Amino acid sequence: MIAFGFDNTYTRLPDRFYARLAPTPVANPALVRLNAPVARMLGLDPDALTGPEGAAVFAGNAVPADADPAALAYAGHQFGYFSPQLGDGRALLLGEIVGRDGVRRDVQLKGSGPTPFSRNGDGRAALGPVLREYLISEAMAGFGIPTTRSLAAVTTGEPVYRETALPGAVLTRVAASHIRVGTFQYFAARQDIEAVRLLADYTIGRHDPEAKGTADPYRAMLAGVVARQADLVAQWLLVGFIHGVMNTDNAAVSGETIDYGPCAFMDAYDPGTVFSSIDELGRYAYANQPGIAHWNVTRLAEALLPLLAPETDAAVEIAKEVLAGFGPRFEAAYLGGLRRKIGLATSEDGDGALIKDLLSRMKDNAADFTLTFRRLAAAASGPEGDAAVRSEFTDPAAYDGWASAWRSRLAREPGAPAARRAAMEAVNPAYIPRNHVVEEALQAAVSRQDYGPFEAMLAVVVRPFEERPGLERYATPPLPDQRVLQTFCGT
Ligand code: AMP
Ligand code: MG
Repeated sequence: MIAFGFDNTYTRLPDRFYARLAPTPVANPALVRLNAPVARMLGLDPDALTGPEGAAVFAGNAVPADADPAALAYAGHQFGYFSPQLGDGRALLLGEIVGRDGVRRDVQLKGSGPTPFSRNGDGRAALGPVLREYLISEAMAGFGIPTTRSLAAVTTGEPVYRETALPGAVLTRVAASHIRVGTFQYFAARQDIEAVRLLADYTIGRHDPEAKGTADPYRAMLAGVVARQADLVAQWLLVGFIHGVMNTDNAAVSGETIDYGPCAFMDAYDPGTVFSSIDELGRYAYANQPGIAHWNVTRLAEALLPLLAPETDAAVEIAKEVLAGFGPRFEAAYLGGLRRKIGLATSEDGDGALIKDLLSRMKDNAADFTLTFRRLAAAASGPEGDAAVRSEFTDPAAYDGWASAWRSRLAREPGAPAARRAAMEAVNPAYIPRNHVVEEALQAAVSRQDYGPFEAMLAVVVRPFEERPGLERYATPPLPDQRVLQTFCGT
C-alpha cells in the first residue's frame, strides 16, 4: 500500500464536526490524470501513484492505512436562503498531509459516494464537471490566484444519471482546508457556541497563527478572513473570472477559490455577465462578486458574535469595524491590479478615472477583456501596437480617445518601455480557459474518451502569461456562433 503520510487534525475535533465513513467502491477505477507537480508538493512520488494502486485510492476502492475518511458538516446560504444542514454530500476528507513546503493541506475525494449529508443526491460526480474543476483550478493556480488544486481524476466505470447517463468520475482535491463560512454557520445555527469556539481556534491554528498572540484572537481571525476574501475577489475580477455559485458554503475561510461549478471566464467585457443557468437573477454576476463576498463574510461575523464580546452590542460594534475593512482592502487590491494591467508602477489621483474610462469604453465596444489588456502591453512600448488593440473595439476610435490620455500618463512613469511591456505581460494573461474551448475539450473526453484536447488545453492554461506560437486558437475569442451563453453545475 502506498504511504501517503497522512497527519490528521480535523478528525480530532468532536464527532459532531463530521461523519466518519469509508468511500463507496466503484466498478472499475481508471486514472485519467495525475498532477505530478501537486503530488511532489505534497511530498508524494508521482510514479507510485500512476499505477493501479493509485487509481484504487483515488477512486475510493482502497483507503490508505493512515487516512481517516470523513464527510464534513456545514450549513450555508444558497442564493441568499439559509440551509442549516448541507455538508459533504458527495465528498470525503481522506486526511491531511504536511507538504514539502511545510504547509498542511487537506486531501479530499469528490464524487466518492453517498454520505449522511447526501439528502437526495447520489454522492457521485460526472466526468465532465470533474475535468472542468481540474482544468479551471489548475488555470487559477497558473494565474497565481489562491485556489484548491487537483491531484487526480479517475473514471469509475459506472454511469451517473443526470439528464442522461454520463460516465462517473472522482476528483482528488487538495485544499489549504475545507473550512467554509458555512461551517461556522452550521454550529451557530445550533447555538453550539462551544463548537464555534473550537472551530475558530482550529482556524486560527491553520490559517491565522499570528492572531494567537493578539489581544483579541477571534477579531484578528475574522479580519484575516475578510482580507483574504477581499483580495481573492479582486484577483478574480482582474482575470475576468465569474465563480457562479458564491454561496456561503462555497466560501473558504482560507481565501482559496473553492467548488468550481458553473464558473467561467468572460470574453467580451461586460460587468453584468452571468453564465450559470441556475443564477436566474444574476445574483453572482461578474461585478456583483465583491458585494457578495462582503455579504458572505458578514454572515461569518454573525456566526462569530458570541466570541467577539460578552455583550451583543459590543460584539456587533467589533464585527462592524472589522467588516468596514473589506471595502478599502478590496479597492486597493483591485485598483492596484488594474494599475499594473495598464502599465502603471506609480500612483496618481486620476488613475482610477483613467481606468474606469477604459473599462466603460471596453463595455460599450464589446472589447475582449483578456485580449485588450494583453495587446495593450505591446502598445505600451509604442503606437505601432495600437492597431491590434483598436481592432478589439467595435468603434476603434473609442480606443484612440483613451490611448492619448493613457500615453500622457505613461510619460510620467519611470522605467523603459521594454520593461513596462514585460511587466504588463506578466499580469495580463495571453490565455484563459475560454468557455467554447473548455466545452470542446470536455465534450471530446466525455463522448469519445479522447483526452487529447483536455491535455492540450491544460498545458496551455497552466502557463497563461507565456505566449507561444501555434496556440492562437486558445487566445482567440469565440465567433458569434461559438459563444457559450450558459454553463451548468452538472452536480
Ligand atoms: P455544490 O453546489 O456542489 O457546492 O453543493 C451544494 C451541496 O449539495 C453540498 O452539500 C453538496 O455536498 C451537495 N451535493 C451536490 N451534488 C451532490 C450529489 N451528487 N450527491 C449528494 N450531494 C450533493
Ligand atoms: Mg459546494
